[in-house]
Amino acid sequence: MLGLAIGSFLNVLIDRLPQEESIIGRSHCDHCKKDLAWNDLMPILSYVYLGARCRYCGKKLSFVYPLVEIITAALFVFVVSLPSLNLRGSPASLLNLGGSSAVEGALLSIHVFVLEKLALLGIVSMAIVIFFSDLKYQIIPDSIQLSLFAFSFLFLITKGVTPQVFLAQVVAAFAVMLPILIIFLVTRGKGMGFGDVKFAFSLGFLLGIVDGVLALYTGFITGALVGIGLIFLRKKGLKSKIAFGPFLVLGLLTMLFFKNNIVQLLKHFYRF
Ligand SMILES: [Zn+2]
Repeated sequence: MLGLAIGSFLNVLIDRLPQEESIIGRSHCDHCKKDLAWNDLMPILSYVYLGARCRYCGKKLSFVYPLVEIITAALFVFVVSLPSLNLRGSPASLLNLGGSSAVEGALLSIHVFVLEKLALLGIVSMAIVIFFSDLKYQIIPDSIQLSLFAFSFLFLITKGVTPQVFLAQVVAAFAVMLPILIIFLVTRGKGMGFGDVKFAFSLGFLLGIVDGVLALYTGFITGALVGIGLIFLRKKGLKSKIAFGPFLVLGLLTMLFFKNNIVQLLKHFYRF
């Protein structure tokens, strides 16, 4: 239920931030501009009982709205059901900040566990906004980039990072950003946008250098496959642009949650 409600809010961010509209204020129909009432705005339900049309002007509503709500809810359930993630394959143990008794230690661990979940829910939410705002408007809003970085920082804190590990994450951030920056500079912003460069920085900061590079790799492979597919289906020509952000999001989520499966797959494929 929380995921559906947050998903509904993410829809607002996806549509308003790229157009520099205020995110507060009533939602209105994009077509007839009529303000929407509370019962037009219930996640999924409104879409279904209104028959996917605006109540006032009858304009067809995009299926993307309920889709974002469903994806957000599904990912929230997934994140909450996960055991504690670990940073770069180190044994999963909750931070023990040294409470004086076992009970205090356990309570602290629970707090850290809850913080980790909040950080991951934030990361997943920002990833969803990046996916759809880049897909729809070819823009990744700066406020979302900053929020993603902040949630990633929070996640690292719950893993108990030392200053050395933090420094290593910053180095990884620059290293993962570099290939995207080079493509951005060489193609003069036509191959990649500067939003992709900033996004790659957060990706490296969160995942570290090896997983960050693998996330880029996953992004390039899925991007190439989808691009070839679209050209083959004649939906796109050889020179048309496809936003890269959504593929980086796929890379981020797969490396964050399915790292072991991806490494197994690559081992099998390249026989190392
Ligand atoms: Zn309308």
